[in-house]
Amino acid sequence: MALARVTLQPGREKSLEQRHPWVFSGSIATVEGTPAVGDTVLLHGSDGSPLASAAWSPESKIRARVWSFDPREEIDAAFLRARVGAAVRARDELLDSAHNACRLIHGESDGLPGFVADRYQDVVVVQMLAAGAERWRDTLIDALAEVSGCGAIYERSNVDVRALEGLAPREGPVRGTMPPRVDIVEDGLRFVIDVAHGQKTGFYLDQRNNRKRVRALAPGRDVLNCFCYTGGFTVAALAGGAKSVLSIDSSAEAIALGRENVAANAFDSARTDWRDADVFVELRKLRDAARAFDLIVLDPPKFAPTAQHAEKAARAYKDINLLALKLLRPGGLLATFSCSGGISADLFQKIVAGAALDARANAVVIEHFAASADHPVALNFPQGDYLKGLLVRKNA
Ligand code: SAH
Repeated sequence: MALARVTLQPGREKSLEQRHPWVFSGSIATVEGTPAVGDTVLLHGSDGSPLASAAWSPESKIRARVWSFDPREEIDAAFLRARVGAAVRARDELLDSAHNACRLIHGESDGLPGFVADRYQDVVVVQMLAAGAERWRDTLIDALAEVSGCGAIYERSNVDVRALEGLAPREGPVRGTMPPRVDIVEDGLRFVIDVAHGQKTGFYLDQRNNRKRVRALAPGRDVLNCFCYTGGFTVAALAGGAKSVLSIDSSAEAIALGRENVAANAFDSARTDWRDADVFVELRKLRDAARAFDLIVLDPPKFAPTAQHAEKAARAYKDINLLALKLLRPGGLLATFSCSGGISADLFQKIVAGAALDARANAVVIEHFAASADHPVALNFPQGDYLKGLLVRKNA
């Protein structure tokens, strides 16, 4: 059957010519045919020239996501297997004796819009986040099982963005039998992953390099780890020789796993303290108690999923960064992150600068952080560059 033909409004071809994979509903002039959700359509310029093939998503503002910029290329199982194979092979060097977990597929940046897969030891957790990935779900999962050699696959497509695509949430085992928990090794350190109940797919793999950096910065320091989740930065700091680590998160389940992770690495729990609390409140309590730290990590959740939320998010980022800078001893370090797509790296640095000014801290940026290599950013897809961070030193 012929593919439906989608023609763009005059002048709206530009982003496709620059190989950006998204077509918004407002850019579309006409649709010939009746494509169903997730069907492949052919995108044409206003002059009629074919530009790309894409997955159709009639309920989403992102009406089509490009599979291939070669409109002659057929989108079928062979095409998708090749994309999955290339993405998985590109991670080969990220899995070694010290690491058995990494992101295998990172959506648009791996040429597979809306498809995410994280490997934890021999288990893969997948998310189908867009109509095209959903349409090809079985094919993608088969290819992934084959290429990764992992028998157990679990789905965590229980995220809000699916509603924007008109898709219901779905989660549960898909292939093989699932152990309730999976042990992984990152940088030689052990972590327990709860793939069914953990946040996202179970672990924040994007922070791998940054945890390693914090490990190197930790020796002899009193560390404060805010938004600690299951203690990724806590364990890294202890491994690096931190004198003490105070970890805060509002999820009691996450903290329970954090304590287990400290024990799994045989670190002395006397060096650790945990607070199941709201960071915004707890930082004020620490300030009022005149506490001080040498290294503070701030890794909050996404305050601004899109630019519309940027103003409110900016106030929240400023608040916690200001308080953290006050809690730092002179010479202390702040590793501060934003995973908000709606906050650019530039804006984030301005927010931290404003916080330093109000905290009356003479502070300098000494390093920039980004997501680890298993979360590539396609150069034609700047939206993929969501995680940014600064290492700030508070001068005496
Ligand atoms: N740094 C972690 C990942 C942090 S994810 C790692 O390396 O694994 C963000 C965390 O912030 C989540 O665990 C969430 O439970 C927690 N959180 C969200 N809002 C919070 C708040 N207001 N106070 C404390 N924790 C919060």
